[in-house]
Amino acid sequence: MARGGKIWLVGAGPGDPELLTLRAARLIAGAEVIVHDGLIDPDLLLLASPSARLISVAKQRARHTMPQDEINALLIRHARAGRLVVRLKGGDPFIFGRGGEEAEAARAAGIPVEIVPGISAAHAAAAAAQIALTHRDAASVVSFVAGQCKGLAEQDWAGLAGKGRTLVIYMGVATAGQIAEKLMADGLAPDMPLAVVENAARPRMRVLRGLLAGLPELVLRERVVSPALIVIGEVTARDNAALAGAVREAAPCAS
Ligand code: SAH
Repeated sequence: MARGGKIWLVGAGPGDPELLTLRAARLIAGAEVIVHDGLIDPDLLLLASPSARLISVAKQRARHTMPQDEINALLIRHARAGRLVVRLKGGDPFIFGRGGEEAEAARAAGIPVEIVPGISAAHAAAAAAQIALTHRDAASVVSFVAGQCKGLAEQDWAGLAGKGRTLVIYMGVATAGQIAEKLMADGLAPDMPLAVVENAARPRMRVLRGLLAGLPELVLRERVVSPALIVIGEVTARDNAALAGAVREAAPCAS
């Protein structure tokens, strides 16, 4: 390696530039090469130095514009040439961002690598839609799953959703029908409340509420587009319940 090249895997948050960490902003400003993906707000790239090289490796569902091993090789090539490389990723690099693979590839190549966490879509959607992912009276467990994955049918989600639990599904819009069927086959009540949060923390955010059995219809009727999250659990209906004056039974919670 020439003079100290390095790779930073940097979480860019959900889109709103105000939800970037100060460390991420400093690293973007100092980077010589920025390799970014499609969920990045273009305003974030305005923080980059005018001399920085900006490389997009934007991905769309099931259509990778650049295969992961080529991205890994690209990062390593620039770092080996002694450059300061920021790999800027939507949300958090280690939540469905393939940051784990990039970090492993860098370590295997002997390149120093550092991870800068970002606000993941689940946290941004929860905050923007005022859905508490955990709540002393309604949920003491929260799980993140990927709905668009090889072998969705084989994934074991049993026990991740239900009373006292919140399930957050990333990349689940296109497979909403299969997801609803899968969860009901696992014993989840068809009237379990849910919310779909589209474009969380972005100007065109929508929060749609419904019930599990109606999820596929909701997604179709409202023409939900990516990026969107599906949040399933009683926490998504607490305001609705309060409005209706309903008295809710507290779920057992160890805390
Ligand atoms: N590393 C990212 C997730 C990448 S997977 C993170 O931590 O957030 C891409 C999926 O994230 C999208 O399909 C969508 O389900 C979700 N997502 C990303 N940004 C989002 C946003 N602003 N609003 C809603 N969902 C979002």
